[in-house]
Amino acid sequence: MAAISLQHLNTFKLGAFADDLVAVTSIEQLELLLPFTSPFLVLGGGSNMLFSENYHGTILANKMQGIEQWSDDKHHYFKVAGGENWHAFVMHCVALNIGGLENLALIPGSVGAAPVQNIGAYGAELSQVCHEVIAYDISTGQRHVMKNSDCHFSYRESYFKKQRQFFITQVTFKLAKEWQPQLSYGELKTWSKMLSHLPTPQDVAEEVMRVRHHKLPDPAIIPNVGSFFKNPVVSNEHAKQLKQQYPEMPQYVMSTGIKLAAGWLIDQLGFKGKRVGGAAVHTQQALVLVNQTKATPKDVMNLAEEIIESVHSTFQVTLEPEVNVIDEQGYSQLDLCHKKGCDV
Ligand code: NAP
Repeated sequence: MAAISLQHLNTFKLGAFADDLVAVTSIEQLELLLPFTSPFLVLGGGSNMLFSENYHGTILANKMQGIEQWSDDKHHYFKVAGGENWHAFVMHCVALNIGGLENLALIPGSVGAAPVQNIGAYGAELSQVCHEVIAYDISTGQRHVMKNSDCHFSYRESYFKKQRQFFITQVTFKLAKEWQPQLSYGELKTWSKMLSHLPTPQDVAEEVMRVRHHKLPDPAIIPNVGSFFKNPVVSNEHAKQLKQQYPEMPQYVMSTGIKLAAGWLIDQLGFKGKRVGGAAVHTQQALVLVNQTKATPKDVMNLAEEIIESVHSTFQVTLEPEVNVIDEQGYSQLDLCHKKGCDV
């Protein structure tokens, strides 16, 4: 029997329910709870979750707080509890004039959720600064100390995202004392060229916040989960064909192929501002779907399906959700395109 409202626990503000919720505030409490044998779902800030139905299980909400700091000759280290707010932690480092996280300012969510998604923005990625992750296997209760290489980080992916059975209690960050700003992305590059001095971490964070405020809806005002789709990576051959047909198409070389900008593909098809029920494509950034007015999960799913189908039929590219879709059983293997008969 679903009894706990999740409306204020997900930044899309969808009105789903869960059977039960446990707020985990300490390692001692977690160790008493585990192993957990009934269905569970770990929730951080709820900024990357789309509840498509009521969830039949227990939500384990990571509410652990605390930051420890130390350093050696070359690095600053921060061991941060998983329930800390990501942006607040970024600004904590920036206030200390310690660089390395400033490009990741204003990404919604918690510190514990950051390694799961391997969050990234403006050419920086969590994997570049993650030293160690402490994670508990929820079904066995076993504590794992995972070094960076154990986390199998890749583009918006990690071991934790594939396994889904971990509760991340702490993340240790390793930030170089010899900091170099990462200014390779268009907007930061243009901005930095106008400066007469080398920017500080604070300067970069402020510029990132300015750009994000301009382009992205604030989830506290217009409910959303940030990027709804991942940027697709296609083969060199496919990218070449697309470039011939669409010379303006942005393409970026990755080790695994060519990355396309999902927002650009969606924008080309005229989706900005498009509404399905209470759900809409954001007018400034086509990669973001918003809960405009009392959207139901069905509105959001229908809009997402329409986008996936249109992008597939025009560009023969399959968009995958970056957001985690949760149905009554937990993580749903959302395969909207295949469901609709796409052939990739
Ligand atoms: P943008 O500058 O309009 O660029 C569109 C896409 O092209 C981005 O998603 C980005 O991929 C890629 N791109 C742009 N310049 C690149 C470069 N020099 N090298 C490699 N790839 C490049 O992007 P935007 O939508 O305004 O977003 C800016 C940044 O904020 C991006 O890094 C984006 O990922 C991040 N962001 C994250 C979220 C989130 O919820 N996770 C939401 C909004 C924006 P990448 O995404 O791989 O960087």
